Amino acid sequence: MSGDSSMIRHHPDKNQLLEYAAGTLARGPSLVIAAHVQMCADCRTHYHTLNSLGGSLLNESPAQPIQPNAFEHLMTRIDRIVEKNTVKEIKDREPEPLNNQGPALTNLPRVLQKLLAKNPARKWRKVSRSLQVCRVRTGQRDYEVAFHHLRSGAKLPEHDHRGQEFAVVLHGSFSDHNGIYGPGDFVFREPGQVHRPIATQDKDCLCFSAVGAPVAITGIRGLLLNPLIPFRPG
Ligand SMILES: [Zn+2]
Repeated sequence: MSGDSSMIRHHPDKNQLLEYAAGTLARGPSLVIAAHVQMCADCRTHYHTLNSLGGSLLNESPAQPIQPNAFEHLMTRIDRIVEKNTVKEIKDREPEPLNNQGPALTNLPRVLQKLLAKNPARKWRKVSRSLQVCRVRTGQRDYEVAFHHLRSGAKLPEHDHRGQEFAVVLHGSFSDHNGIYGPGDFVFREPGQVHRPIATQDKDCLCFSAVGAPVAITGIRGLLLNPLIPFRPG
């Protein structure tokens, strides 16, 4: 994995980490947080603390049990559900050939390596001259989960998301009005928050993200702003 953990500046908040550790966070955001935790020593420590607290919290509050080893549970869910989908897809049609034209997906956190192993037929889609997207199947319908590759120096048009956006930077970096995001940094945007990411000049930027189902935005902004990419969960 690229990046020095001590350089990570943006982390999930306490509630997000707790929900992840408790296994109550949806699978899309859980994958993003799992990738961040594998890249971030600080959050790994918090996560292990939450896990070790799990037993005692379980006794005191049966309504909200902390599920130990949420990470292993997540990996098992990837195995089980994506395999089921894959079998169905193979029955439906021939798998797509491996696309070697797109950006390389190497040097990734273990959870993403495993997810890619479950998605052998990957296809990069060119959204614009500088942005390519590779969707991955995760066996759920609430979040669109994808890798985004932004060419160095590229500026995305200003856009918002109709649902919550969770992302982690894997390689390179980008900036927006909230600051600079480098390898390992966690990104969270509420629905309707407008941003305009710009990849830094020196290196292409690779991110992994989960974007939630659209939330209706009313008023003139809802009429004027269109999502950059149509929502396609999976
Ligand atoms: Zn962190």
